[in-house]
Amino acid sequence: MNQPAPNFYHPAPRSQQFCSQCGHPLTRETPPDDNRIRDLCTHCGAVHYQNPRNVVGVVPILGNQVLLCRRAIEPRYGKWTLPAGFMELGETTEQGALRENQEESGARIQVQSLYTVVDVPSVNQVHLYYLAQVLGPELDPGPETLEARFFDLDRIPWNELAFRTVSTTLQHYVKDCQQGLFTTRHYAIDIRFPD
Ligand code: ZN
Repeated sequence: MNQPAPNFYHPAPRSQQFCSQCGHPLTRETPPDDNRIRDLCTHCGAVHYQNPRNVVGVVPILGNQVLLCRRAIEPRYGKWTLPAGFMELGETTEQGALRENQEESGARIQVQSLYTVVDVPSVNQVHLYYLAQVLGPELDPGPETLEARFFDLDRIPWNELAFRTVSTTLQHYVKDCQQGLFTTRHYAIDIRFPD
């Protein structure tokens, strides 16, 4: 019996036209003993799998404020975000979060616990945010950031945030601050129709 498809499942878009191993044109079909459509090379038999990508970032806290960055790049140019980005090969999630913070805010931070895991299966991504202590007010944002700024929690620009994963994580943080208890939380959201 076939497994039921996950709620958000849709075939990954074709990633490439030709086989990276032999150069033969690829076909789109379900390989034997598989249950999903793949990019398949009928010449050498290679199956070109596509898998979700990880986005890693931090919730940088200084006293009662959170550090946000205003994006200097698309998508969502000019919107506010937490420092975050795609993981690079060869690094841990924590190292990736540190690197992204360094690139986007330049703040000196100490990474603490993993805080939110946000599945976004509609775009084949998993976002992981760490809580981080900011060690000083000095900032040095890089070219991907128009400006970096500390916000009081009641001044977070909710209507000017770049991504639902960011607002989900910040809502979780504000709620935890109100309760005085900080817990790691898992979310799954659908952003096929970004708001
Ligand atoms: Zn091939």
